[in-house]
Amino acid sequence: MPSLERFVYYFGPGRADGSAAMRDVLGGKGAGLAEMANLGLPVPPGFTISAKLCLRYLEDGTFPDELREEVARHLKHVEQATERRFGDPARPLLVSVRSGAAVSMPGMMETILNLGLNDDTVQGLIAGSGNPTFAYDSYRRFVMMYGDVVFDLGKEPFEEVLEALKRRRKVTRGIDLSSEDLKALVREYKAIVQARCGVPFPDDPSAQLWGAIEAVFKSWRTRRAIDYRRVHGIPDELGTAVNIVAMVYGNLGEDCGTGVAFTRDCRTGERELNGDFLLNAQGEDVVSGARTPDSIAKLKRGKFAKIYRDLDTMAEKLERHFKDVQDIEFTFEHGRLYILQTRRAQRTGLAAVRVAVEMVAEGLITEDEAVQRVPPQDLDQVFHPMVDPRASVTIVAKGLPASPGAAIGEAVFDADQAEALAKKGHKVILVRPETSPEDFHGIVAAQAVVTSRGGMTSHAAIVARGMGKTCVVGAKEIEVDPVAGRFRANGRVVKRGQILTVDGTTGHVILGAAKLVLPKIGTHYEQLMRWADARRRLRVRTNADTPADARRAREFGAEGIGLCRTEHMFFEGDRITAMREMIVAPDEAGRRRALAQLLPMQRTDFEGIFEAMVGYPVTIRLLDPPLHEFLPHTKQELAGLAKAMKLPLRRLKALVDGLEEANPMLGHRGCRLGITYPEITEMQARAIFEAACRVVARGKKAVVEVMIPLVAIAEELRRQAAIVRRVAQEVFHAEGRAVPYLVGTMIELPRAALTADDIAREAEFFSFGTNDLTQTTFGLSRDDAGRFLPFYVEAGILKDDPFQVLDQDGVGRLIEMAVKLGRGTRNELKVGICGEHGGEPSSVKFCHHAGLNYVSCSPFRVPIARLAAAQAALEEAGVINRTKATV
Ligand code: PEP
Ligand code: MG
Repeated sequence: MPSLERFVYYFGPGRADGSAAMRDVLGGKGAGLAEMANLGLPVPPGFTISAKLCLRYLEDGTFPDELREEVARHLKHVEQATERRFGDPARPLLVSVRSGAAVSMPGMMETILNLGLNDDTVQGLIAGSGNPTFAYDSYRRFVMMYGDVVFDLGKEPFEEVLEALKRRRKVTRGIDLSSEDLKALVREYKAIVQARCGVPFPDDPSAQLWGAIEAVFKSWRTRRAIDYRRVHGIPDELGTAVNIVAMVYGNLGEDCGTGVAFTRDCRTGERELNGDFLLNAQGEDVVSGARTPDSIAKLKRGKFAKIYRDLDTMAEKLERHFKDVQDIEFTFEHGRLYILQTRRAQRTGLAAVRVAVEMVAEGLITEDEAVQRVPPQDLDQVFHPMVDPRASVTIVAKGLPASPGAAIGEAVFDADQAEALAKKGHKVILVRPETSPEDFHGIVAAQAVVTSRGGMTSHAAIVARGMGKTCVVGAKEIEVDPVAGRFRANGRVVKRGQILTVDGTTGHVILGAAKLVLPKIGTHYEQLMRWADARRRLRVRTNADTPADARRAREFGAEGIGLCRTEHMFFEGDRITAMREMIVAPDEAGRRRALAQLLPMQRTDFEGIFEAMVGYPVTIRLLDPPLHEFLPHTKQELAGLAKAMKLPLRRLKALVDGLEEANPMLGHRGCRLGITYPEITEMQARAIFEAACRVVARGKKAVVEVMIPLVAIAEELRRQAAIVRRVAQEVFHAEGRAVPYLVGTMIELPRAALTADDIAREAEFFSFGTNDLTQTTFGLSRDDAGRFLPFYVEAGILKDDPFQVLDQDGVGRLIEMAVKLGRGTRNELKVGICGEHGGEPSSVKFCHHAGLNYVSCSPFRVPIARLAAAQAALEEAGVINRTKATV
């Protein structure tokens, strides 16, 4: 019995079975084609096989019986619309077979063009076009793509033969070869398939079609597709649809062409139609970067002016319809324009901000939508460093500025090497003739990508831009030799390991490490952040240990300090010696001597920080070092300290050895230090309150919060808080003024979360130290997790690294529980988070829903947290993000 489920959806001029709303079924490409057909735009007729079938096919290895009938029926519709027949030697219908998942995965999946060609049907193509060169060029492309995608041979074996022939004939484009040469290539390509796979190349169009459909479905599970999904957080369950579309030809002569257009500039956001095209070419030529295309501005005047006008009108129509920047593929065949695809354009963070703000001004979207539309993480790019325009630099080559920002690293010439070196902590620049999806993992690992070929829409450009990675493409002067591990450019040779700076804003490739500076923040960004700030409920603070960091964080919009790690102040200059003296002091008297040296240093630092954050709360955490971070280890360090402490070296060595801990992270750290050595807490409290009094004496407001770390037991907090309060009274009495303050604690141990009701009796605020809380909840060491966590993520045991993205199911549950218990005891309890998660968008959203008052993160992530907090508030208010409904 035939099932009621539908597998195939038709589209053609003026009519489509589907629409943009059916992205889950049709995939982005299919949904876009359907919507364009409904809008009356000139799309070639075709049909889409549902993405719902993809996983089913991958699991079962077969198709439902009805699918064959449905495909045959829809092929008939396409034949009628084009007045051609599939496999007909006189008037053959040729099709493209292209993948398309619900979420755009540029360059990740497979495309086969000109399917349906064989030695018979090519005659029909010759007769119809009167152009044998075109016909055989299409044929040899088809065999190559099919060999690559269906027989999994890669493009190389075919390209080698093609390149050799082009060299022999002294031509640069395949289409410039004679029809006889192209015909011979087809034979040679087929022989490659036969030799390598042991089966003949399929000549039956129907067999070709089903082979291609299966290959598209299978491509969902290739490594590069899986890698891409992991990096971009795309679910594996989506599957891809298959689009089968009647061919139109950009390679039918010099009055034909193909290209990609963007409705706005995806690097800057400027509103202007832009993109690339190639004459006498097929789509893959533009995207693969094998030929360097021209800017579409060139079409404006001259014989293609009408094409340009039509394209401009259609692009405008599409953008207004989808209310977002579109990335459009087009082909023109003898003066007739076809739109082959439209999708939401990938853009840099800079462009995302400008487009969102300008679209509000243009009345296309609302302020709420603008706030929802910019991925918070993309704001990172707004602050991308750039090469100091005043620095003198040696430019080795210049290419197209494909993705902005500047990056420094060692030159590497293949993706595996880039990945291997990056894993060892090297910063690398991936330099390639061009990139293909096989290089994806190398692009991920690199700081920047440089290619010698390709245009603004080449694989490298699109992928790097999507990731916010600096990229320069089409640097023609560069001659890359990946095998020898070097490139030549303008008389210079750059070898593997040499340092380069890549400037993706100007397109310069620079020898050595150039001086980088931060860009000025633009008005669009300021506007977007004003809208975001007006919508968020969460406050956003920063983690800062120095006045300089605190000032920078204020510029980024921080509303206070959520964590000042006091021990970090002691790494500078000769302070470390006093700190070490304090740690290794054999008795209280020795410790007090060292503490007396530390007191004025701390006080000065705190004054600076209170000044920088004037009027905003400053949370100062008392000493919390795992002691091994501070102990002297080298002979030189030991000798220096022995001298300072006037101790014999052997005695000092014995003291240091006595402090070694098997597990310092779970050892004598946090409030355990202050419990065993209360004089440390006393000194720090004194430094804090004296600094605050001095700032207040200068007529400024200091808002003080003292935070006790690594509390597991309410009694620990009670004792430490008592010391802090006593010292506060002593200082206020001596200074003749009082400063309001709070005493609170970090919640960073499961026991603290479980007994948060008790702890809240002593604490006026909680701050979740999710770094330690993650460590202790999972029972895995922060310092050692790097050895196995990446494997866990790769193997799918964990979705994300829990030290980067808050583990909502485990750690998150403890947080929710602690908030509830804590507020049960103390209704007005102020609650924040200061672990690394405080600047990670999904974790920030979690904190909003868990009812926290603030998040605290590193200065650069403050804008990200502000925007994520606004999006969380909008999501909670049920404001629909229409962006998600576009293709
Ligand atoms: C934490 O544990 O989350 C925290 C902020 O403290 P630290 O990283 O300094 O241990
Ligand atoms: Mg901690």
